Amino acid sequence: MSDTRTATDITGLSAADLAGKIAARELSSVEVTRAHLDRIAEIDGELGAFLHVGSDEALAAAQAADDAIAAGDAPSALAGVPIALKDVFTTVDAPTTCGSKILEGWVSPYDATVTAKLRAAGIPILGKTNMDEFAMGSSTENSAYQVTRNPWDTTRIPGGSGGGSAAALASYQAPLAIGTDTGGSIRQPASVTATVGVKPTYGTVSRYGLVACASSLDQGGPCGRTVLDTALLHEVIAGHDPRDSTSIDVAIPDVVGAARAGAAGDLTGVRIGVVKQLQGEGYQAGVLESFQSACKQLTDLGATIVEVDCPHFSYALGAYYLILPSEVSSNLARFDAMRYGLRVGDDGTHSADEVMALTRDAGFGPEVKRRIMIGTYALSSGYYDAFYGQAQKVRTLIAGDFAKAYQDVDVLISPTTPTTPFKLGEKVDDPLSMYLFDLCTLPVNLAGTAAMSVPSGLASDDGLPVGLQIMAPALADDRLYRIGAAYEAARGPIG
Ligand code: GLN
Repeated sequence: MSDTRTATDITGLSAADLAGKIAARELSSVEVTRAHLDRIAEIDGELGAFLHVGSDEALAAAQAADDAIAAGDAPSALAGVPIALKDVFTTVDAPTTCGSKILEGWVSPYDATVTAKLRAAGIPILGKTNMDEFAMGSSTENSAYQVTRNPWDTTRIPGGSGGGSAAALASYQAPLAIGTDTGGSIRQPASVTATVGVKPTYGTVSRYGLVACASSLDQGGPCGRTVLDTALLHEVIAGHDPRDSTSIDVAIPDVVGAARAGAAGDLTGVRIGVVKQLQGEGYQAGVLESFQSACKQLTDLGATIVEVDCPHFSYALGAYYLILPSEVSSNLARFDAMRYGLRVGDDGTHSADEVMALTRDAGFGPEVKRRIMIGTYALSSGYYDAFYGQAQKVRTLIAGDFAKAYQDVDVLISPTTPTTPFKLGEKVDDPLSMYLFDLCTLPVNLAGTAAMSVPSGLASDDGLPVGLQIMAPALADDRLYRIGAAYEAARGPIG
């Protein structure tokens, strides 16, 4: 068995260091990209992080980045540093499956805006990473293609839905990755793999070409092994996009400046709230202990910590699991056997309706079907007000809890997940216990605000990764980076 957590001289470097060396021409992007492709070839058979590896395309992009740098024309601060892309963003030169059989082999005719921004920044795309089907799940076990293993313990889940991106980072197969966070799918995998993941403010990263799960919740975001790397990537992918009607036309906060300032480690005057509802019963002792020591470190850095009451957070799970399936039932109607991917029963003996039904039955997995059915029921005539309408009211109350809390504190904190990563297979037959793993991350999506998971060490009871969640008001994403970087510096290396 190869060591899933051992890096080489090149793959062990941070994205910021790689970018510096590539810009100074101490390393070429081709060398760096090849080192990561070699690592993928060596190790990914064991981990299953990638659904598709685009070696030729990545090396061609690396060569182009090297040429631009040689000509004194570096396209961005991350030029030449390769990345892993969650398989939910469209790419013209690779399949986009969203982890679903219904899209097997489908190649998009256009690039997502996030994809286009990566290309324009000179960031070679190594490949597309595994995910729960259409981003529904918490363990990546709902992928129709393969299991992804946690590099810290290969018998355990890498989180979900973006487990492939997180596992690629934690095993040094990629220095940067992109995820999407609808209910926690960036932060939760980051937490269980000891990596950094950020869900930006809703509307600040374009959803154009991000295959929709739940449109009012979905947000793409950056993943890295350090807070600074994540900030550098955030800067590349954020910004207004007229092709996304929910994109907001505002200046993106200076997240890179905030990460650099935070690393100096002074949090004097920063007010932090601990969410009363996101701790206590049901949380693993080792997770709570790690959280307490993070609080102590933040206080030592000069921050003041108070407990904050967010009474409606207790209803977040119920509201989320009505709103998300409702939007899913509508969004996934487009997979009708006529326009994309799979078509079953098209042999001249079936009607169009039958072909559609046969295709959807064969192409969607059980969790996707479950949510389509729940959503269709919740939206059906006579039930709309009782379910969807009620959930929307709860959503407003949760946003109100945040707004009230942020009158008194700059950020809120909690553990990112109630426990460390569980065993593969442990919760596949128990959807409710799977859903409960996202208890701490859902409120932020419902409110449309920003949050980060930053590693807070290994739990004392089982030695597995724990994440600290930092939450900030809409468009105050820079606070996450300042506080995250200060905490990261104080915490020191993990494992
Ligand atoms: N695990 C949550 C769900 O299954 C979150 C998914 C996500 O953020 N994409 O819906």
